[in-house]
Amino acid sequence: MRPLVVVDPDKPQNRYKQDMALVPDKLLSDLVAIPSVNPAFAAAGDRNAGEQKLCNFIAATLSKYGIEVELRNIAKGRPNLIACIKPAQKTRCRVILAPHTDTVAGSPDQFIPRKTGDRIYGRGACDTKGSLAAVCTVLAQLALTPTRPTHTEILLAAFADEEYAQLGSRTFAKSGVRADLAIVGEPTNLKVVTAHKGSLWIEFKTRGKAAHGSTPHHGKNAIYEMARLIGCIETDYASILSSRQHPLLGSPTISVGTIHGGIQPNTVPDECEIIADRRTLPGETDTTVCRELKAFLKANRLHASVRSLKPAPCPPLNTNPEIPLVRMLLDCAQQPMPGGVDFFCDAAVLASAGIPSVVFGPGNIAHAHGPNEWVSIRALDAAVGVLKNFLMRLP
Ligand SMILES: [Zn+2]
Repeated sequence: MRPLVVVDPDKPQNRYKQDMALVPDKLLSDLVAIPSVNPAFAAAGDRNAGEQKLCNFIAATLSKYGIEVELRNIAKGRPNLIACIKPAQKTRCRVILAPHTDTVAGSPDQFIPRKTGDRIYGRGACDTKGSLAAVCTVLAQLALTPTRPTHTEILLAAFADEEYAQLGSRTFAKSGVRADLAIVGEPTNLKVVTAHKGSLWIEFKTRGKAAHGSTPHHGKNAIYEMARLIGCIETDYASILSSRQHPLLGSPTISVGTIHGGIQPNTVPDECEIIADRRTLPGETDTTVCRELKAFLKANRLHASVRSLKPAPCPPLNTNPEIPLVRMLLDCAQQPMPGGVDFFCDAAVLASAGIPSVVFGPGNIAHAHGPNEWVSIRALDAAVGVLKNFLMRLP
């Protein structure tokens, strides 16, 4: 909880010249060059794993601008980075800028940033070190701007572990912090997004009776039952889902991701298990989806157990776009209508804790997690412009 450095940027000896301004694409290259792979996707002892080194670098960078920074461990060697620009007068408004610091795994060349034309390539370039670079640039610019908001506290909450279990945002949300708006940094192509789908992992298990492979009529084949179940999910259940529509999110979906069954070819399998990824719309919960699936199986005379596997809920996001600060951000982004995205992120975690949350950032989610992740430098600069414009309009 201890600030690393506290400097008053308004004291003449601490005032920095404009030529110290951060350049977002240069900063992004520095961030890409410090791997921060989520340990869940790395082998034990992998030097690229963990968010600590990246957070140390950001803390040192922001501290140069007199910005107060804390590293709060959410697990050993895995901090959330919290930076704060406090208002000169009484706090009447608080806004949180919330990209994440972890990435998925990458090949060694992806940790060497590459600039080609308007693009920066590298692991995390758009998911979400691009947002991180944009937000840090804005914070540094505000620290150098004497006319910054006098009643608004601006927090950077750079979360660890978004890519796996969102331990960073979940821990932060539990701390009881209140805010008027959180802008979660994810690649939305610079669209202000007020809705995203939730995510469930559903395990189905069929049971049969083992028998010698030469006498299958003495057993009951759990894989055959599962095959029928999968067929029904792919056709009938999927068509039930596609009949549901949300104005920003379209339809919920289901996709079978894993299957396990049987032990050897000459034994009739007595058990088969699949795990399906079910993306939910606002209004659907773990409980309602499991209940619906059980009823669906019963109606189709299928026998399987159904259970939700996610250790923590990943609900959909459905923020009211009429909230004044959301309207203002839409206005700054010159966007008449809010957007919606399919992917889950930290926004729903913060929203569940009562913080109105939207998603916004440079880059395209289609380039995230892939072998050629990149972000446009123009988009980085535009993100800085939108966010700074928005923050400067606050009280
Ligand atoms: Zn991601």
